[in-house]
Order: sequence, then structure tokens, then C-alpha cells
Amino acid sequence: MSAAEALSQARAAGIQVRIDGEALVLDASAPPPAEVLNLLARHKADIVNLLRPGNDGWSGEDWREFFEERAGIAEFDGGLPRDQAEARAFSCCVGEWLHRNPARSPSARCDRCGQSKGMLLPYLTGYSTKDPGHTWLHQDCSRAWHQAHRAKAVSALVAMGISIPAKFADDFGKNGSA
Ligand SMILES: [Zn+2]
Repeated sequence: MSAAEALSQARAAGIQVRIDGEALVLDASAPPPAEVLNLLARHKADIVNLLRPGNDGWSGEDWREFFEERAGIAEFDGGLPRDQAEARAFSCCVGEWLHRNPARSPSARCDRCGQSKGMLLPYLTGYSTKDPGHTWLHQDCSRAWHQAHRAKAVSALVAMGISIPAKFADDFGKNGSA
């Protein structure tokens, strides 16, 4: 069982779980059943990670909710079969992650090949207006850089417990982005 499954079992038992520092705080109207407590204790470290917001301000839970919401919209409003809806939702997550995790490279040096010779362009990769930042790239290096950055987004999402939908993996492989 994963941390996410342990959390949803706790919720099914009427227990809300929050984090306070390194501890889990349980919010329930009745004493929590021992089996739920055991489950939460066993997965505590992972649950804390899942609920703690990352650098982008979203926790693993927030990402999972975003994924589920997008998949639901694609399936019920968009009329897609479930597997395609999940692939679409995963693409939305990748896009959102990239926006929320802008890359910044400090100096006028290509962030892909490391050279400072040639014409470097500042690429704006996130949408934070407070601190947009940018990364320097040669135009020729941009494609490979963006593929690598996209792969980073995919691993970050996988690490947060969202598995890559089969249909998405197909597209991903086809585009040579993996
Ligand atoms: Zn370069």
C-alpha cells in the first residue's frame, strides 16, 4: 500500500490528516481506529512528504487532485475514454509543473551545452510575475533542453505518486522526449 492509499483509507474512516512540522495531526470526531493509526504510522514519512508543499507551492496531494480533476473534465466534459483522459490530464500536469518550476541559469552561458560562445537567448520558462527568471540557451540547444526539462517534470510527478498513463507514455516515446 502506498502513502496515498493510506491517506484515502484514513479519510474514508472520517479522519482528516494535516502536517505540523514533521508530525501528522489527525482531525476526527471520534478516537481513530487502531488499524488506521497503524497504517498512518507505517507510512508517516511518506505521508508528510505527500502533504508538504514543494518549492512550487503545491504538495503531492495538490498534484494528485489536479490530475484527477483534469482527468474527470477530459472524460466527462470532453467525452474521452478513460485512458486517453488520463493521458491528457498527465500532459496538463506536466505543463503546470513546468510553469510552476521555472528554470533559471545564472550567467550568460548555455544551460544545455555550457558554452558562452554564439548567440544566446533568454528563455522564459515559468509564469511567476514576482520572480520570472530565465534560462540562457542557444536556439539549437533549446529542443534537447526542453525535452530534458520535460523529463524532469515527469519524474517529479511520478515521485509524487502520479503514475504515467500508458497512452501518455506512447506519445512521450514517439516524440522522442523520454
Ligand atoms: Zn548551447
